[in-house]
Amino acid sequence: MNAASSPARAEIVVDLGAIRHNIRRLRELVAGPQVMMVVKADGYGHGICQVARAAREAGVEWLGVATIDEALTLRADGDTGRLLCWVAVPGEDFGPPIAADVDVTAYSTDQLAEIVAAADRAGRFARVQLKFDTGLSRGGAPRAEWQALVDAAAAAERTGAVRITGLWSHFACSDEPDHPANAQQEQAFRDAVELAEKAGLQPEVRHLSNSAGALHRPSARFDLVRLGIAAYGLAPAPAVASSKELGLIPAMTVRGRTVLAKNLHAGDGVSYGHTFVADKEMRVALVPMGYGDGIPRHASSTAEVSINGRRGKVLGRICMDQFVVAAPDARAGDEVILFGPGDDGEPTAQDWADACDTISYEIVTRIGGRQRRTWTNGSDE
Ligand SMILES: *Cc1c(COP(=O)(O)O)cnc(C)c1O
Repeated sequence: MNAASSPARAEIVVDLGAIRHNIRRLRELVAGPQVMMVVKADGYGHGICQVARAAREAGVEWLGVATIDEALTLRADGDTGRLLCWVAVPGEDFGPPIAADVDVTAYSTDQLAEIVAAADRAGRFARVQLKFDTGLSRGGAPRAEWQALVDAAAAAERTGAVRITGLWSHFACSDEPDHPANAQQEQAFRDAVELAEKAGLQPEVRHLSNSAGALHRPSARFDLVRLGIAAYGLAPAPAVASSKELGLIPAMTVRGRTVLAKNLHAGDGVSYGHTFVADKEMRVALVPMGYGDGIPRHASSTAEVSINGRRGKVLGRICMDQFVVAAPDARAGDEVILFGPGDDGEPTAQDWADACDTISYEIVTRIGGRQRRTWTNGSDE
């Protein structure tokens, strides 16, 4: 490996070409609805603005984020397309998103009243989407409050304060396509849309599905699908279909270089607490990343990395800045890949998630800390 191609001490490399590829692939798979790329939480750790630009290049009609701050970050970056946000606490200032032509979400009549007041102050109408709780019991108006919300929304629309642009909800179990909650939620959503339309609302978009719903429940695609994890190339329902089976390419690679390689003797304990003890002479390498960089401590003694094309297990506890791996022929300075697309035998973020008993979302979203992050354009032409 020459110096120019050798990886940094610790780095995250995001392939924006993979993201564009995934969006095109997903559009083929879901055939029909508009696509919203969800770029909340710094684009699931991939870089909110870089991912948003790549997604627009690939033709997504909508971007979705959780917070108002995230939406304004995208506007400050120059994005002018349709953009929805959905988490605001009482008293938050809806003026800036209204002025920036961001669609905001109302969960309750109180929240709608705050949006109307902000629109009146701003002297322009707010684009508002109403969220109905179909059974996740998280955000959204419960059934008992829905009629009041849609009536209030219709009244506010008549005054010109708001335009109700969307009606939406969110699945609880879409990664388990056979779970009975999916059909119940879909029916509850249809009923809620009907009530809203009876109240006089004519939304531009009705939407219910995240990645797993969009891929595995065709009846729930409605006008728009909200794609997060699948657009980053990871499987939304790994028990149903892997990323490879879906034709998706994981966009994030986490890699670095080993600090040191050395031999241990039988009986040597490794890392804090000596939770791993060598039972024979073995060669190990030291990786300069730890939980301070978002490497999950739950991966202690379970996850694997790739060094010189060979898999090696994490030995003992992941520390704040470093961890030890088994590496039969390692030398100091070797390239170590924690996870990547998986094409050259390296682990994937899904492998790390399995090792930590979590989901790939958490692996990629938490990664960061002191790692250098760069973006490449891959080859999606
Ligand atoms: C995060 C999020 C999504 C995207 O979910 P994925 O499973 O990553 O596709 C969609 N909708 C809402 C409301 C979300 O919070």
